[in-house]
Amino acid sequence: MFRAILVEKADGGQRAAIAELPESSLPAGDVFLEVERSTLNYKDALALTGRSPVVRKFPMVPGIDGAGVVRDSTHPAWSPGDRVLVNGWGLGEVHWGCLAEAARLSGDWLLALPATFTAAQAMAIGTAGYTAMLSVLQLERHGVTPAQGEVLVTGAAGGVGSVAVAVLAKLGYRVAASTGRPHEADYLRGLGATEVLDRAALAAPGKPMQKERWAGVIDTVGSTTLANACAQTRYRGTVAACGLAGGMDFPATVAPFILRGVTLAGIDSVMAPMELRREAWTRLARDLDPAKLASMTREVGLAEALVVAEEILAGKVRGRVVVDPGR
Ligand code: NDP
Repeated sequence: MFRAILVEKADGGQRAAIAELPESSLPAGDVFLEVERSTLNYKDALALTGRSPVVRKFPMVPGIDGAGVVRDSTHPAWSPGDRVLVNGWGLGEVHWGCLAEAARLSGDWLLALPATFTAAQAMAIGTAGYTAMLSVLQLERHGVTPAQGEVLVTGAAGGVGSVAVAVLAKLGYRVAASTGRPHEADYLRGLGATEVLDRAALAAPGKPMQKERWAGVIDTVGSTTLANACAQTRYRGTVAACGLAGGMDFPATVAPFILRGVTLAGIDSVMAPMELRREAWTRLARDLDPAKLASMTREVGLAEALVVAEEILAGKVRGRVVVDPGR
């Protein structure tokens, strides 16, 4: 038997609760993973609360990320005792995920845990941090360098935002952190932000072309915020769009793209190819200060995860939440 969070259909909606499940209930997969740590991302919070249709098969064990030890494997790449991590691939959406003490997965989805990270550190990074790094890689690929000017990070006190601020600062960028929580200004400066902005300034509809400010942008918010960020991006700058915390819409014009040569780079973590994942995790091992990672992280057990999910959607959680399924 193993403990897990189980999401089931109930009363026309869904219900998440802790369950003791037999290992025989796990889905098919060529690797059996003893999950040491998982995490709560924004998407996990949506899955746990049912606020958005993330779970597409019921019953479902949520948890888009996991790290731990291989117990059994028939996959050629993995043997018992290997330390691995997994992000995305439909975990917690269509395949049982890692908010559980055990998971059965495809070995094709796994990465070796970088030697520099414990399972808890890898999950402190999780999909949020790996997405932040995918966004940084996009800025780099489009030629955004520290010499070109400031980079804007929106939703900065959240999970993706916190890791993005810390990584960009370590790489030498000047980082403007946009947040709706002015009381987190010291926290954001501690991560390396050189400027802290009130997110209200980006939230109201603005002109299609605004004063050029940003060499690059990592946007976790979407909607009007993303439109304004594009309108404020400098000539040939790049905006990495990775989130929708403020809305799925994009009320913008093409003006910044066709008149300033701005690039809008889309970021998807779920189905990203293995080679890109390896690159992102290698860079995280190099470019994310473990002390800063610790300062943005707290750890909870499975029961508390159900409560914290609501707090995440209310925008009250700072940084990252690691889940110890054995707790
Ligand atoms: P968090 O909840 O940790 O952070 C989101 C942050 O967005 C909040 O902390 C808050 O920051 C800001 N925010 C929340 N609501 C609003 C609002 N109504 N208007 C403006 N800002 C708001 O989530 P994550 O960091 O884990 O994820 C951020 C986004 O990125 C989510 O939309 C998520 O779905 C997406 N994502 C996408 C991935 C991909 O593959 N493309 C992968 C991972 C995440 P503050 O308080 O500082 O203002």
